[in-house]
Amino acid sequence: MNNLDDIVSLCKRRGFIFPGSDVYGGMAGTWDFGPLGVTLKNNIVNTWWNYWVDQRDDMFGIDAAILMNPRTWVASGHTSTFADPLVECKECHSRFRADKLVDGYSESITTEEFLAQNPVCPVCGKTNWSSIRKFNMMFTTHVGAVTPEDAEGDEAAKELLNRSTTYLRPETAQGIFTNYKNVVDTIYPNLPFGLCQQGKSFRNEISPRDFILRDRECSQLEIEYFVHPDTWSENFDKILEEYRGFLKDKMGLPTEKIHELEVPAEDRAHYSKRTVDIMFDYPNGEEELMGIAYRTDFDLQNIARESGKNMDYRDKNTGETFVPHVIEPSIGVERLFLAVLSTAYTEDEINGEKRIVLRLPENLAPYKFCVSPLLKNKPELVEKAKTVYEKLKAKYTFVTWDDSGNIGKRYRKQDEIGTPKCVVIDFDTLEDGTVTVRDRDTAEQVRVKIEEL
Ligand SMILES: [Zn+2]
Repeated sequence: MNNLDDIVSLCKRRGFIFPGSDVYGGMAGTWDFGPLGVTLKNNIVNTWWNYWVDQRDDMFGIDAAILMNPRTWVASGHTSTFADPLVECKECHSRFRADKLVDGYSESITTEEFLAQNPVCPVCGKTNWSSIRKFNMMFTTHVGAVTPEDAEGDEAAKELLNRSTTYLRPETAQGIFTNYKNVVDTIYPNLPFGLCQQGKSFRNEISPRDFILRDRECSQLEIEYFVHPDTWSENFDKILEEYRGFLKDKMGLPTEKIHELEVPAEDRAHYSKRTVDIMFDYPNGEEELMGIAYRTDFDLQNIARESGKNMDYRDKNTGETFVPHVIEPSIGVERLFLAVLSTAYTEDEINGEKRIVLRLPENLAPYKFCVSPLLKNKPELVEKAKTVYEKLKAKYTFVTWDDSGNIGKRYRKQDEIGTPKCVVIDFDTLEDGTVTVRDRDTAEQVRVKIEEL
């Protein structure tokens, strides 16, 4: 098992991921994707979109606004229940998520249960704790031209401020549910059908940690799959099976690193009859990669109640009218990114020399090919290599040029960023039109005609 620190180090060294606001000393719980990271991330997202939306007749895309009417979060329950247990050390005033300081407890931990474990403050080592209180994780913001300063002592401004308060969305799902009726009334899809969205969501985590696994700003890939209430069970199985295929075939995740966990009734949301958490063996242990939840008609009924609008679906063939039920597979892009990266990260030896190699699936690698002249001070080699580069770039897009250092150093670098093939132009190329193609995983080299690339 590889080490998370090695992956963080590679990410920074090679331009995959930098700490957020690095130049100012960072910003906890935020990360910035660099040139290679954003390409890998886009490849993951685009592969997801192609698999779940473009290739299917029963799925449609949505791209909703991040800022939503605050009633959205009242209806969904987020204003009242989207909270983590916060505890404060009375000695040094450090704040923590209570369930993370003791073993074997979830977010529902009570003050009594917490104190019974006698946890020590990780900062000052004392054991003088406040009671646990619920800390809502939504980021609050104000929309329009009023600030909290205006509202001091001014009742009209205070009222305006209250009405202008909203949140950065804590999930993308509500942007789908609130558009369900618009979609049904405009494109009349047959059941079952899914609405898919990818985009940012925000959680004010008390203690962000584990690199990009628990950050304050993340990208989600969510599907709400609307079904007839009688068919939820078979549709749940179908989506689960399709997701197994996606993770294995499209993301290259080995099945032995994936563990499906049937969430027991007492740990499920009260309305859900089935939830499966898909766990992954990350470098720092088993963590949730994604979840698939049966949400019944909970969200659509909440919206119907809050908005007064009818959420019925009318079956065109039978005339039956009902509120559809929902299967929700939800996955975080960063979690998927780290699963892909940690699977690919390998240290091995080639001819007695240690190397780091990212064995990324070809469809996800930031570059498919690297093109080099064997020697950069031979104009005839550089010129020929440029023509090969232009040809491959036109055909495959994701192609890079490297004429730095010696050939061995270039191979090491391309291994570390996961480039599957290095193409080298040498003096034989000028004679017979063949190039050396070196394979990332085996380091084997073969001669190939330029036309066959
Ligand atoms: Zn303390």
